Amino acid sequence: STGETRDVDVLVIGGGQAGLAAGFYLNRLRRDAAAGRSGPAPNFAILDANNRAGGAWQHYWDSLELFSPAAYSSLPGYQMPPWHGQGNPSADHVVDYLRTYEARYSLPVHRPVTATAVQQTTNGYTTETDNGRWTSRVVISATGNWNAPYIPQLPGSEQFLGRQLHTADYRDRHGFAGLKVIVVGGANSGAQIAADLTAVAAVTWVTRKPPHYLPDDIDGRALFQIATQHARAVANGEPSPGGVASFGDIVAVPAVRAARDAGHLQASPMFSRFIPGGVQWDNGHELEADVIIWCTGFRPDLQHLQPLGLTTRNGIPETSAALASRSTDCPGLFFLGYGDWCGPASATLIGAGAMARDTVAAAAASGAPPVPSTE
Ligand code: FAD
Repeated sequence: STGETRDVDVLVIGGGQAGLAAGFYLNRLRRDAAAGRSGPAPNFAILDANNRAGGAWQHYWDSLELFSPAAYSSLPGYQMPPWHGQGNPSADHVVDYLRTYEARYSLPVHRPVTATAVQQTTNGYTTETDNGRWTSRVVISATGNWNAPYIPQLPGSEQFLGRQLHTADYRDRHGFAGLKVIVVGGANSGAQIAADLTAVAAVTWVTRKPPHYLPDDIDGRALFQIATQHARAVANGEPSPGGVASFGDIVAVPAVRAARDAGHLQASPMFSRFIPGGVQWDNGHELEADVIIWCTGFRPDLQHLQPLGLTTRNGIPETSAALASRSTDCPGLFFLGYGDWCGPASATLIGAGAMARDTVAAAAASGAPPVPSTE
C-alpha cells in the first residue's frame, strides 16, 4: 500500500520486453545460487506502469506486422511460438508471448506501478512510485520510448484547423474514410500507416529524404545476421560493417510492398509551415489537409530519472564505452531497451537479451560477484 518502503538489490523499472529480459537473467542468477554454482544472488523486482503484460506492444496499431518471423523475434530462453497468420506476427502475438514469458519464469512484476522519481542515496537509490517506495543498490531503467512521442515544431502549427496525431495515437483506419491525410515520416511506422490508410483516405506521404526500402527478399534471418555482425564489430572495437540502417530504412512487409507496388506510396518532400487549411512548401505550393499524422519517432522516456540530473545529449544520457547500458553519471544505474545508444539492437526483441545478460552481470558485480551461466 502507499507509504510502504520495500528493499531489493536490483530494481527494474519497466516490464516490457527489455525489463523481462533483465528479469530472465536475474532469475538465472538465483537459480545458479540455489544450485550452489555461485554466491548469493541479488533479489529483485520489476515495476510496470501498464495494467497488463506486453509493454508498448499492447498499444500499437492493429495492422502492425513484425519486421521478422517469430523464430527471429525471441527473448532469451523461450522461443516465440510460431505465427499461423499471413506474413509476420502481429503485435497481439507479441503481447501473448510476453504474457506467457513472464508467467513461465515467474517474474516478480508489480503492476500497475509507475515510478515517479529516482534519487541517489549513499548506497544506492530510492524510487518513489504511485504505490509505495523502493530502495535498491541498482536501478535498471527499461521504460521504453512509447510515452515520449516526438513531434517536430513547424511555424503556423497553432493556426492549422485540422487534427494532428502522432504514431502513438493511431489505432486503425476507422474514422479516416474520405479524409485528406498527410502522413509525415520516412521510416517503418510512416510507411505502414500510410499504406494502411491508402485504402480509405486521400493520403499524401511526406518524408525528409526519399524513402529507402530494404530489399524485398530480406528476411528476419538476414536482419538478425546484420545486427549481430554490427554488434560484434562494435564490441571488438572494429569498424562496423553497418547496422540494419545501412541497408535501407523501411522493411518491405507485405502490406507496404503492395501499397508501394500499386503506386500509392509516392513520397513528397517535407513541407515548411502550416496554413489554416493545410500545409505549405517553400516554393509556395499548398496542400489541403484534414489530418496530419506525425510518424516522427520517440525519445527515451526518462522522466522518473529527472532528480538524478543526468548529463544528456539530445535527450540521451551518457553511457560507458565499455558497456553501453551503464550510466557514466550514476554508479549502479543502467539503461535497457530504448535504442542503439544503450546497446546494439537493444530495442529489438532479438537484441534485448544480449544487453540484458551483460547488464545483469555488471549489476550483480556492483555488489556480490556472481555472473549468470550461459546454459
Ligand atoms: P516498452 O515496450 O515501451 O516497455 C516499457 C514498459 O515500461 C511499459 O510497459 C511501460 O508501461 C513501463 N513504464 C514506462 N514508464 C514507467 C515508469 N515510470 N514506471 C514504471 N513503468 C514504466 N522490434 C522488433 O524486434 N521487431 C519489430 O518488428 C518491431 N516493430 C516495432 C514497431 C513499432 C511501431 C515500434 C514503435 C517499435 C518496434 N520494435 C520492434 C522495437 C521494440 O521492440 C519495441 O519498441 C519494444 O516495445 C521496446 O520494448 P521496451 O521493453 O524497451 O519498452
